[in-house]
Amino acid sequence: MASVELKGLGKRYGDAVALADVNLHIQHGQLVCLLGPSGCGKTTTLRLIAGFIEPTAGEIVVGGKVLSSTTRTVAPEGRNMSMIFQSYALWPHMTVAENVAYGLKIRKMNRETIAEKLKTILSTARLEALADRYPAELSGGQQQRVSLARAMVVEPETLLLDEPLSNLDANLREEMRFEIRRLHDRYRYTTVYVTHDQAEAMTTADLIAVMNGGRIEQVGTPQEIYKRPRSAFVARFIGGSNILTGKALDARRVAVGDSVLVTDGRALRTGETVPISIRQHEIALLAAQPEQSENVLRAVVARCVFLGSARDYTLTLEDKSELRLTAPADREIDPGQHVWLRLPADRCQALSGGNEA
Ligand code: ATP
Repeated sequence: MASVELKGLGKRYGDAVALADVNLHIQHGQLVCLLGPSGCGKTTTLRLIAGFIEPTAGEIVVGGKVLSSTTRTVAPEGRNMSMIFQSYALWPHMTVAENVAYGLKIRKMNRETIAEKLKTILSTARLEALADRYPAELSGGQQQRVSLARAMVVEPETLLLDEPLSNLDANLREEMRFEIRRLHDRYRYTTVYVTHDQAEAMTTADLIAVMNGGRIEQVGTPQEIYKRPRSAFVARFIGGSNILTGKALDARRVAVGDSVLVTDGRALRTGETVPISIRQHEIALLAAQPEQSENVLRAVVARCVFLGSARDYTLTLEDKSELRLTAPADREIDPGQHVWLRLPADRCQALSGGNEA
C-alpha cells in the first residue's frame, strides 16, 4: 500500500481544460471518493493516476515515487494498481474462480499460494458457492463482486474504481455500497473511487473530494462536507441546500431583505455580499408571527406536495426568490397563505463565494 499525492495536476486537450491545478493527498489505506457532476474531471483524474494518459501540468507521486509528470510517465503495467470499470470486463469463457485467479497466474505464483489466496478472497467476497459458474450465469451484483475480488486478490498498492455500481439497479447499488466499504475495511488498499452519486460517496468514503469544472472545490470527511460546505456549489450538490444572499451587518449578522439572519461558519466583513446555505429540513414553518424577529423570514406558500412521510413546500420570499422546505406530513398549508419561517442560526452556514476579502 502507498499514499497517493496529486500535485498541481492539470490536463488540457488543445485549448480545452479537462483538469486544472488539482491538489490532493490520499493517505496510505484511505478510500477517497471523487464526487461531482458529469464533465467535472473525475474520470480524467482517475485515468491520470492509472497512467492511461499523461498530465500537461503537475505530477503524481505514489509511495514517494513520481509516476507521472510532464516529462516522464510510468506505463500502467509498471504501476502496482488495479482498476475497475463500469462494465465489469470479466472473461466470459472463464469460471468465477478462473477469472479471480488469472492475475495471480500471470504473476507466476505457485499453485499452493494461488489456491490459498483464491480461497480467502472468494470467502471474503461471498463467492464460494459460485466459484464454478461462468459470468453469464451470474447476476449484475455477483459479477461486480467477482470484478472486485479479481482486482483485490493481486494485492495492488492502489485500487481505482470508476463508477463501479452504475450498471446495477437501485436496490443492488445500495447493497453493494456496503459491500465495497466492508471489503475496504478488510483489505485497506489505498482506493480512489469515482462517482456522481452522493449517497454512494457518503457510504463508502473516508474522504470526499467534491469536483467542479476541473477543480476540487472541497475535501473533507462525509460529515464535514455535509455540515460545513464551503461554497454554494458544494451546498447545493450535497443534500440540496437552499442558498440565500444578503449583506453582512457585522461578523455574524446578515440582512436578507427586511430580516436579519444570525449565521454560523466563517467571520464576515461588514458590507460584503454573503451566500448563506440552509437545508430544506432545517427550516421550521410557522403559521403565526413569532415574537422574536431575528432568523425569521416572511413568505407565501407557492406549492405544497404530499410525499407520504413529509410535505415538500415551495415558498416565495418577499424579494420574490424561492425557497424549499420539508415539513411534517400533517402540516398542510394551502398555496397563497402567508407564513413565517424560522431558520436556526447554527444551521445558517455563511459560505465563501460572495465578495469577501
Ligand atoms: P462523467 O461523470 O460524465 O464521466 P467526468 O467528471 O468523469 O464526467 P471527464 O471524463 O473527466 O469528466 O471529462 C472532463 C472534461 O474533459 C469534459 O469536459 C470532457 O468533455 C473533457 N474531455 C475528456 N476527455 C477528452 C478528450 N479525449 N478530448 C477532449 N476533451 C476531453
